[in-house]
Amino acid sequence: MNQRVLSERARRVIPGGVNSGQRSVPGLTDLVIAHAEGARIRDADGREYVDYHAAFGPPLLGHNDPDVAEAVAAAGRSLDLAGVGVTQGEIELAETLAELVPGIEKSLLTSTGSEATFHALRVARAATGRRLVVKFQGCYHGWHDSVSLNVISAPDRVGARDPISTGILPEVLEATLVLPFNSAEAVRRAFAEHGADIAAAIVEPVPHNVGCLLPEPEFLRTLREECTKAGSVLVFDEVITGFRHALGGWQQISGVTPDLTTLGKAIANGYPVGALGGRADLMDLFSSRPGGPAFFAGTYNGHPAVVAAALATVRKLRAEPVHEHVFALGARIREGLTAIFDGLGVPAVVAGYGSVFVAYFMTGPARTYTDLLRNDAEMFIGYRRRLLGHGVFELPLNLKRSHVSYAHTGADVDHLLEAAEQAARAQLAQGGPVDVAAASTMGGAR
Ligand code: PMP
Repeated sequence: MNQRVLSERARRVIPGGVNSGQRSVPGLTDLVIAHAEGARIRDADGREYVDYHAAFGPPLLGHNDPDVAEAVAAAGRSLDLAGVGVTQGEIELAETLAELVPGIEKSLLTSTGSEATFHALRVARAATGRRLVVKFQGCYHGWHDSVSLNVISAPDRVGARDPISTGILPEVLEATLVLPFNSAEAVRRAFAEHGADIAAAIVEPVPHNVGCLLPEPEFLRTLREECTKAGSVLVFDEVITGFRHALGGWQQISGVTPDLTTLGKAIANGYPVGALGGRADLMDLFSSRPGGPAFFAGTYNGHPAVVAAALATVRKLRAEPVHEHVFALGARIREGLTAIFDGLGVPAVVAGYGSVFVAYFMTGPARTYTDLLRNDAEMFIGYRRRLLGHGVFELPLNLKRSHVSYAHTGADVDHLLEAAEQAARAQLAQGGPVDVAAASTMGGAR
């Protein structure tokens, strides 16, 4: 059955035709994915793309990694969900996280990153008896109410407190302060004014939800100092950075240790798992007893299949030169793209870290979320739509980052750079919106 027919069926029975916000992309609303393996995804019409979208980040080893798939299958042969007690795999995974991640002494598993950040804020409020939460512009922490302030505002509404959704009680949003990322000064001011009421500050240490803003060392250090001084809980949301940039996450790289850490995505290479870990005294506030200091539960938490996936992912990340490989390819891509855009005379800031890359079409620098409002969204999206025609998939939505995996090769990077030059040239020459359906049958698909 072809994509058009399938996607029409989807829209009849699934609101919007997809199961998560931002999976329905303008111009690609008929996309039905039929196969994913290694560095490639294939649609239901047989069109193949080298995938740099990477499902927003989980498959660091590549899609359907055979070692992870085998570990999941092996777990399934001996165990499924018992829902009572604990399994050896859960113990080993918690021991591994405590060994690898500087800020983690004890941890709990969830099924998603949103659940992990939800519980981080709940336990911070339980521990401090305080109300306020600090978050930063450009950072995304999931779908729950406390953090559901829009990360993208129009240029004339910078800093506006736009709820991401209707249906949220205003008093919940009023308990969240939104500060500019990378502003140590704003952090000092907020703590001077509200410190005694701040339960937690939550931050993506690298705000990858708007591409890639690298944190200035003084910013993270100040955040750590102010939280310590005020007795507030510092939460690093490492759902994207965890395992992807280093086994110990950004806290290992920056040397700044948070009180709580949330993980997800790359830790199980695509299987649905999240984790919340941190200081033992905070984590011990969670109790399985109803009415315990902080309540934590979930039918699927620690499911043997996803725990096996996470353990197999860590084993491979430790045993093989995964980070070396993806860092080398990422660096080549960033250098190659910079040279291409320089050569074409296009103002561009090619940002990223390790395996992550993103080309903003603007003049530098890109330090804060506000800086990114200068990005030329039409060029950003038009360029990516044209890449589809060359069989390269970077999500054609504004400010989205791209990722390389262990399954990508040097030849894939050569192909990406050739495609990038042609796509940028065509977009510059013709501008305007691109008919994606036509573009993606232009013959570049492989
Ligand atoms: N935190 C960050 C930094 C994320 O990028 C995301 C997901 N994009 C989440 C939390 C929420 O995770 P999930 O979608 O698994 O609920």
